[in-house]
Amino acid sequence: MTASATSTPRVALVTGTSSGIGEAVVQHFCELGHQVLAVDFNPAGQAVAERAGAAFFQADLTDGEACKAAVAEALKRFGRVDILVNNAGVQHVAPIEEFPEAKWRQILDLMLTAPFLLSQAAWPSMRENGWGRIVNIASVHAQVASPGKAAYISAKHGMIGLTKTAALEGGAQGITANAICPAYVKTPLVDHQIADQARLHGMAEQEVIEQIMLKNAAVKRLIEPREVAELVAYLASDAAGAVTGASWNIDLGWTAQ
Ligand code: NAD
Repeated sequence: MTASATSTPRVALVTGTSSGIGEAVVQHFCELGHQVLAVDFNPAGQAVAERAGAAFFQADLTDGEACKAAVAEALKRFGRVDILVNNAGVQHVAPIEEFPEAKWRQILDLMLTAPFLLSQAAWPSMRENGWGRIVNIASVHAQVASPGKAAYISAKHGMIGLTKTAALEGGAQGITANAICPAYVKTPLVDHQIADQARLHGMAEQEVIEQIMLKNAAVKRLIEPREVAELVAYLASDAAGAVTGASWNIDLGWTAQ
């Protein structure tokens, strides 16, 4: 599986790019020669994008108008959108009984409604060019659940449904849609979860990593963001034209049992 050998330079819009997986995707896409619009609500994303050679657009993607504006910015700058990577995400850990409604809504808006609106806005450009790639960063929590993460898990399960529907609708138009389902990746989002889980379960942080995060893993380590970015690049390449509607686990063997 290589993206580099088969990759035509494309225009990509990537969300959630100021750190973690999104940052790694922007870096890798720029190395492959793609023109990239990096979208994030955190102004720190500006410097991250500049370092990689990408353009930056600041947007809070919980706002539907901001989603549309991000795609409009890509079309204004580059004239097209070929690749959309829906990556922006947050986590909030609390049992259902105590889960704040505002957090539920924020997570669903950011991690399910924004990918829908961004796909919708980018679709005409992909259809007109007869070529498009939608890569949704879901999670192992799109396939299995863990306690304390109702909103995140609901949004990620929903993302698989969105991916499959986009694959069916896009098939005849040259548009593919796939989801990537990672287990724990070494990013700031996981650093926060380690602290949250430690509080929730009354455990030390190292115990959370070993006893909760890697409990179901055959490969006993966290995943590197670059490992996810390599899979994104493959799914966004010409070589992956026949691959659509699929969920790609990169989960250390978690769901093998
Ligand atoms: P991260 O915290 O490093 O990155 C998340 C990015 O989203 C940040 O750049 C943040 O600024 C951005 N973001 C947050 N709220 C936003 C908003 N309202 N508008 C625009 N941007 C916003 O986390 P990460 O681990 O790199 O996560 C990236 C994606 O990967 C998420 O969707 C996450 O659910 C998924 N994922 C992560 C892991 C993991 O273990 N790290 C595992 C499975 C799936």
